[in-house]
Amino acid sequence: MPFSSLGLSEPLLRALADSGYTTPTPIQLRAIPAVLTGQDLLAAAQTGTGKTASFATPILQRLAEVHHGRNRPVRALILTPTRELAMQVAESVSKYGIHQSPRLKSEVVFGGVKINPQMMKLRGGVDILTATPGRLLDLVSQNAVKLNAVEILVLDEADQMLNMGFIHDIRKILAMLPKKRQNLLFSATFSADIRKLTQGLLHNPVTVEVAAENAAADTVEQIAYTVNKTSKTAALTHLVKSNNWQQVLVFTSTKHGANKLCEKLNAAQIKSAAIHGNKSQGARITALSGFKAGDIRVLVATDVAARGIDIAQLPHVVNFELPRSSTDYVHRIGRTGRAGLGGQAVSLVDPEEYNALRLVEKLIGAKIPREQITGFEITASPQRTGGHNTNK
Ligand code: AMP
Repeated sequence: MPFSSLGLSEPLLRALADSGYTTPTPIQLRAIPAVLTGQDLLAAAQTGTGKTASFATPILQRLAEVHHGRNRPVRALILTPTRELAMQVAESVSKYGIHQSPRLKSEVVFGGVKINPQMMKLRGGVDILTATPGRLLDLVSQNAVKLNAVEILVLDEADQMLNMGFIHDIRKILAMLPKKRQNLLFSATFSADIRKLTQGLLHNPVTVEVAAENAAADTVEQIAYTVNKTSKTAALTHLVKSNNWQQVLVFTSTKHGANKLCEKLNAAQIKSAAIHGNKSQGARITALSGFKAGDIRVLVATDVAARGIDIAQLPHVVNFELPRSSTDYVHRIGRTGRAGLGGQAVSLVDPEEYNALRLVEKLIGAKIPREQITGFEITASPQRTGGHNTNK
């Protein structure tokens, strides 16, 4: 089914065509018509499914149908867990709205940077505001923005917002919004906490599930290489070089670990950069754009820093260590195999992590094949299922 049959207006269709999209992704097919009718939406979708366009395009259309008041109040509010995701969502909103006339104004605000420039940006009014919860509350308390005219609320990556402890901020924000509004909630996973949040929030929502609950995107090939902890850096270096991987996102569990790994990869002539919470916003943006442009071959990131990173066709994701929470595994590997493209998610697993691997498998409902890398075989006897030597 083409985009033109979803009910989107010509300027939006043109912007989607400009972006190179020819066919809607499954979530777009289901969500766009529902959001256009004004219904609430509950969507089980992770990054990479095309979820941003599935809410951004119908929001742009709905807001364009009725003209804003003179003071241009915020009419659509999009909450995201991280600044990276907030920036990307706002970028998408601007991109999809580019041919609308008059244009709707979209802005983004997030913490970790000076608040004053954001207050200035908001002064002339904004139609669509993308924000992280804490900074939004700061801006409200300083009277830089009002939320009493919000018509549409989006909670993007709601599970991550809850994991990051934003529930109180979200509840405070909800209390500031008009009661009558449209609510759209996107989440990769559905914990009891998310269900609780949706109960008071969504009214007869249209439910869209593009992948089985907590299932990893099925376009992603998953492998667990069993290696000794002490050999992980050498094993990763070997994998990158011998397979000639050119764009790899590597997850580590600590900021210090990210820095250390990055140094070692650079020393091995693999151009790398690290992004984590201790890096300035400027350093993160430089690293990310270098990675997107292909100047940086390996981007080493912690979970929080990497959330929402959107790099088209990211081919390889590596878990240098398994995440502490299995749902983070789903998020991590959601960075590859995007919008139906194939991708590979590799985990380097040492014997101490076998339990964590089993928990991940329980969550995704599938076995991840264990393999060994020739030259880096594990010395303790691993509990393998169907593993074989490989040096692809
Ligand atoms: P998202 O899940 O919103 O983060 O989108 C994941 C990636 O898919 C982004 O790079 C989008 O630009 C891209 N994308 C979104 N919709 C489509 C589509 N219909 N066709 C091709 N690519 C798309």
